[in-house]
Amino acid sequence: MKIDLRSDTFTQPTAAMLAAMFSAKVGDDVFGEDPTVNELEAYCAALFGMEAAIYCPTGTMTNQIAIKCHTQPGDEIICDKTSHVYIYEGGGIAFNSGCQVRAIDGNRGMITAEDVVNAINPDDVHKPITSLVSLENTCNRGGGSCYAIDTLQQIKQVCTQHGLKLHLDGARLFNALEATQQNEQQYGAIFDSISICLSKGLGAPIGSVLLSTAAYIKKARRVRKVMGGGMRQAGYMAAAGLYALKHHKPMLALDHIHAKQIADALLNKDFIGKMMPVETNIIIFEVLDNVGTKAFCDFMQSQNIYCLAVSPTQVRMVTHLDVSSDMVQHVVNTIHQM
Ligand SMILES: *Cc1c(COP(=O)(O)O)cnc(C)c1O
Repeated sequence: MKIDLRSDTFTQPTAAMLAAMFSAKVGDDVFGEDPTVNELEAYCAALFGMEAAIYCPTGTMTNQIAIKCHTQPGDEIICDKTSHVYIYEGGGIAFNSGCQVRAIDGNRGMITAEDVVNAINPDDVHKPITSLVSLENTCNRGGGSCYAIDTLQQIKQVCTQHGLKLHLDGARLFNALEATQQNEQQYGAIFDSISICLSKGLGAPIGSVLLSTAAYIKKARRVRKVMGGGMRQAGYMAAAGLYALKHHKPMLALDHIHAKQIADALLNKDFIGKMMPVETNIIIFEVLDNVGTKAFCDFMQSQNIYCLAVSPTQVRMVTHLDVSSDMVQHVVNTIHQM
């Protein structure tokens, strides 16, 4: 029995999810005629209290479309230095939008309103035009860290004052909502655009949704087509996303408990160095030189537990739907044995 803690993208669709997919009503979504895609988009827009939504194959695409629709070539985007949009999307900001990044040295992937104020360029021909702030919640490279709603509201205020757009990469937003007891409507009221992933903790095989105003989503449909993301009978996949949103959100709480159980076991070991605070389903920790990340991951793998080295000194484990409480017990026992 393989226990895959490398990412929450490894989940397999459940029998009930597959049944929902097989029975989906579909049409050509490029013509706007796939009823299940339309239902998913309307469901997400209502959930966040936003006007419209667009379904895309990946979170990279929803983020990149969002950035393209908010900017002009030559603009500057403010984000944390570890943001997914900056370091994990293949240089897409430059490739797709012709923009550059003002990378902030934030705290566990999170930045403040003061950071934003200090990074905005003055009106000076030497300087790129600052047009967009992009935040991530939870922060992947921040160890699944979560923003306080106050911080987001303060950043929004700065953006409004300076005429900047505010985008959220909410690939794991539902984990953050669960951990902080915040809700979707609060986010819909703050952000100009929000990207959510259905294929992470929610357990769908594919899919992300971008949310914003109706006018902006109309523009996003054009950009999605340009990027090759206009899909036809996509309702089969959208049905999995709808199923995940309706049935899997409450299960994220257990993933967070599991992550803390594994973290507690690791913290008892003298070969474990600094660990980022575990707030959601991600555990990122240092393995000290006397063992090393490779030997650690190799030993875990010999016990059928798959972990991911995310830097020469750090290992990441992520809990998700396909990691049961029994599996977590096996992981904890294995760590005790080391
Ligand atoms: C996974 C992820 C994405 C999107 O990734 P895709 O694999 O393109 O769906 C975006 N942002 C963050 C923070 C992520 O973890």
